[in-house]
Amino acid sequence: MTETALPASPPKPSAAARAGTFLRLFARNRMAAFGGGLLALILLVALAAPILPLQDPFAQDTTQRFLRPFSEGHWLGTDHLGRDLLSRLIWGTQLSLLVGVSATLLAALAGSTLGVVAGFLGGRIDNVIMRSVDTVMAFPYILLALAIVAALGPGLVNALIAVAVVNIPFFARNIRGVTVTLANKEFVDAARLSGMGDTRIIASEIVPNILPVIVIAMSTTVGWMILETAGLSFLGLGSQPPVPDLGSMLGEGRNALISHPHTSIIPGLMIFAIVIGVNLLGDGIRDALDPRLRSGALTRPLPATLVDRAETPAIAAKPDALLSLEDLRVEFRLGRRTLKAVNGVSLDIAPGECLGLIGESGSGKSVTALSVMGLVASPPGVIAGGALRFQGRDLLAMKPGELRRLRGDKVAYIFQDPLATLHPLYRIGEQIAEAIRVHHPVPQAEAMARAVALLKQVRIPNAKSRAGNYPHELSGGMRQRVGIAMALANEPELIIADEPTTALDVTVQAQILKLLEDLRRERGLAILFITHDFGVVAQLCDRVAVMYAGEIVESGPAQAILDAPAHPYTRRLIACVPELGGGRRTLAAIPGLPPGADDLPQGCAFAPRCDKAQAACRAGRVALTGQEPGRGVRCLFPETAEDRTETA
Ligand code: ADP
Ligand code: MG
Repeated sequence: MTETALPASPPKPSAAARAGTFLRLFARNRMAAFGGGLLALILLVALAAPILPLQDPFAQDTTQRFLRPFSEGHWLGTDHLGRDLLSRLIWGTQLSLLVGVSATLLAALAGSTLGVVAGFLGGRIDNVIMRSVDTVMAFPYILLALAIVAALGPGLVNALIAVAVVNIPFFARNIRGVTVTLANKEFVDAARLSGMGDTRIIASEIVPNILPVIVIAMSTTVGWMILETAGLSFLGLGSQPPVPDLGSMLGEGRNALISHPHTSIIPGLMIFAIVIGVNLLGDGIRDALDPRLRSGALTRPLPATLVDRAETPAIAAKPDALLSLEDLRVEFRLGRRTLKAVNGVSLDIAPGECLGLIGESGSGKSVTALSVMGLVASPPGVIAGGALRFQGRDLLAMKPGELRRLRGDKVAYIFQDPLATLHPLYRIGEQIAEAIRVHHPVPQAEAMARAVALLKQVRIPNAKSRAGNYPHELSGGMRQRVGIAMALANEPELIIADEPTTALDVTVQAQILKLLEDLRRERGLAILFITHDFGVVAQLCDRVAVMYAGEIVESGPAQAILDAPAHPYTRRLIACVPELGGGRRTLAAIPGLPPGADDLPQGCAFAPRCDKAQAACRAGRVALTGQEPGRGVRCLFPETAEDRTETA
């Protein structure tokens, strides 16, 4: 299939849209919204200190000492020198916030710069920077902060510097770790290949990617830093009298803690409110910025796909089918939107049969395959209708435990990218052995022996020593063989292979197909083979079902369909496969894009892209009808012999 026939990647969300998602996720988190609200209120009052009708925070009046809260003229009372507590509290809050936030910014800037430089340049520079950072970390931080203030002299600015310095290692270590991973990513290599220098790469590739990490780290530490500065002021090393900050107010109130507790409780409550607000807000920011939480709900997927059928269809069990799908409907319910990914798919697979499921990317093949074993993630996935039967048993009525026992045992999956499905930290032999031991309690040694035998069976040379390799030590073709070996581990009846050869080159693809074909003959395996390539179908499959926009548009014996496609879509899919030595022929890409799963047309879904479409095609749903036995086509004007000679 040609590039142009695939749907383009969805347009990048605009900055405004992304900000919208962020705010939406953020608002969903009530605690974070509460924290944000509390903090905003405190900030507003603190910033408004100069314009509020407050008394002079320094004005002493010894006749008015230790007035209780709600006294006349002093809402929050007065302190040991008769100064107005409300005024001191608001000015003190302003100062504490200013110092805490500045210290955080300073530490984040210095620490992140060190981390990025160390992580990106590596080698000796990394060593020098990180060992210095380690040295700073080796001291208990509060002692180090005290030592720094002692050396620089007491004062708020020095306290700020001390708190910033002791927090630099936290940022440096965090950011270095992230940078090291990023520096080895392909997009950084690509930037290098395009001729960018180190500084440009850091500025354009690394920094945008670590910014969320920095923001998260800052939001989770700023509360801590405010506490630390308050701590230093409490000890008399930060703000100097008579200038109030929350820490020094607490320190002054300490002497009268028993006799006049309000002088220390009031600044204490303010510190508490600020830190709670900052931390709740920080958690919320982290959750909303985490891309894994952004796409779905903030919940864990259920053990099996949710079933929400309007009615349970009464369908006669077909004794000769191993797996049968009846009018399967799968939706993704995302807030107010419903994406209809699978719209009434019916399929049967007999024991030992290979059925090809073919269609463009996004046509619903994977969702169909995953729903068989309840593996479509819920939320947002929902099986909204139809029935699924395996060996006559109703799969949708099964408990998650029963379903789990079938997964990997009777029904096994092979996925497109074996590197993503194999565990990177375990040897391949151990992984295959584990797949066996999940379902059959055999001793480890026996499972390992079986794993080696399986590796031999999938034609991996030196199986015994290869079993000790890690996934990254194998080539793509070998890894896919391991994937197949794992699928075979428990002698399944059915293998569902979801584009297992798409990531491989043509020669390796041919080897893998040959292997699957041999295994099928040796073991009588049934295979549901998903692909977008008719060339592959021709090699391996007995029957084929063509899928478009969540529906089967044509089905029948593979050879018959290849020889005489009846649906215009099938014909065009076949026309996309190049033939070696087949003479000159135009490789016709299918114009246009498949419809989105959220705006399916009313009639035939292919009509907007079809050159034969007429008004009747757009009027209503087209049924799957069979002209010849075993064949079905969902088209009002199926292809004729003349149409076929046109493109051939
Ligand atoms: P393919 O035929 O390429 O395997 P899929 O079955 O993966 O296609 O996807 C079918 C449709 O379902 C697509 O429109 C896709 O966007 C949608 N879809 C798949 N998974 C999800 C999901 N987790 N959330 C929302 N939509 C999804
Ligand atoms: Mg897919």
